[in-house]
Amino acid sequence: MSLAKIFSVSSRVRASGACGMLSRQANFSSKPDTEQVYPTADAGYKYVNLDDPRMTMKALSDRAAQTMFWTELARGFAVTLSHIFKEPATINYPFEKGPLSPRFRGEHALRRYPSGEERCIACKLCEAICPAQAITIEAEERKDGSRRTTRYDIDMTKCIYCGFCQEACPVDAIVEGPNFEFSTETHEELLYNKEKLLSNGDKWESEIATNIKADHLYR
Ligand code: SF4
Ligand code: SF4
Repeated sequence: MSLAKIFSVSSRVRASGACGMLSRQANFSSKPDTEQVYPTADAGYKYVNLDDPRMTMKALSDRAAQTMFWTELARGFAVTLSHIFKEPATINYPFEKGPLSPRFRGEHALRRYPSGEERCIACKLCEAICPAQAITIEAEERKDGSRRTTRYDIDMTKCIYCGFCQEACPVDAIVEGPNFEFSTETHEELLYNKEKLLSNGDKWESEIATNIKADHLYR
C-alpha cells in the first residue's frame, strides 16, 4: 500500500470517529488548513455534538482576551441592566388585559337570532352530554308548534368548562363566551337561569359571533 493511500485511509478513519453522532455516513475529505473534520451542514448533515474549540492563533488570543478582560462578566451585566430598565413583561390587570383565543371557554350565554327569537330548540343535547350534569332543561311546545325551553339552568359551580355543551348544540345557542370576570361572593349567584343566560347572550353577542366566525373552519 502506498504512503498516499495509507494517509487517505487514516484520515477517513479519524474523520468517521469524529462524526460518530452524524445521522448518516458520507464521503468527504478533511482539509488540513481547517480544524472542522466533519462534513458541513450544507452537505446535508446534522452535527449534534459540541464543536471542538478552535486552536488557531486568532481563536486562542480571543479566548485569552475574554478571560483576561472579563468580557463575559461585562456582557452579563449589560443583559441584567437591560432587563432592569426595559418595560415589565407582566400586564397591569385589571387595567390591561391580554389577548384571548377565539376558542376561550368562559361564562356561558344563550344566543338569539337577529330577529330576537331565541336559538335554543330545547333538544336537550347539551343537558345529555354535560359530564358534570350542570344543565337542567324543561321544555314545552308553543302555540305556533315550535319547541322552546321553559327552564334552562346551569349550575356554574358544577361546570368544568369543558365546552361539550356548545359543541353538541346544533344551532349555536349555548356558547361559552369570552367573559372570565364573573366571580361572585355567594354560591347562589352562580346558579344561572334562562333569563341570566339570555342576558349574557345579548351582552356578548358581537364578541361571540366574531369568535365563532374566526373559528368556523375548525368546527
Ligand atoms: S362546559 Fe361542560 S361542564 Fe360546563 S355546562 Fe357545558 S358541558 Fe357541562
Ligand atoms: S342549547 Fe342547543 S343543545 Fe342545548 S337544548 Fe338548546 S338547542 Fe339543544
